[in-house]
Amino acid sequence: MCLFCKIVNKEIPANIIAEDEKFLAFHDINPKAPVHILTIPKVHFESFNEVAPETMAGVTTFIQKVAQETKIDESGYRIITNIGEDGGQEVKHLHFHILGGAKLTSCFVDNS
Ligand code: AMP
Ligand code: ZN
Repeated sequence: MCLFCKIVNKEIPANIIAEDEKFLAFHDINPKAPVHILTIPKVHFESFNEVAPETMAGVTTFIQKVAQETKIDESGYRIITNIGEDGGQEVKHLHFHILGGAKLTSCFVDNS
């Protein structure tokens, strides 16, 4: 079972901030911004490549609610989902990073 499935099953603790029947939101363990939340569907999809449009419809509403509850909806935020090797995906369970709470910079190509 993957790491995030274990969080869904409460086998591994997480700092959960929102949950419903289908989705879970929790604080990223290694935050890259003042607000850094991960939102996942409870059902395992490896990445965005596999997800069904119905799940994306549900995740949209869920993320909007999380943004309102954490009060970043008006100041602004960024949603990122990394896909595969070039996308920099480390955990192979579809997740959406919600980043905010400060002016974000961008760095999209690894020049190192
Ligand atoms: P990605 O590189 O898009 O796969 O992002 C994986 C994210 O999961 C990283 O930002 C990690 O800091 C985060 N992460 C890894 N393990 C945990 C955990 N146990 N609880 C919360 N976040 C985690
Ligand atoms: Zn999983």
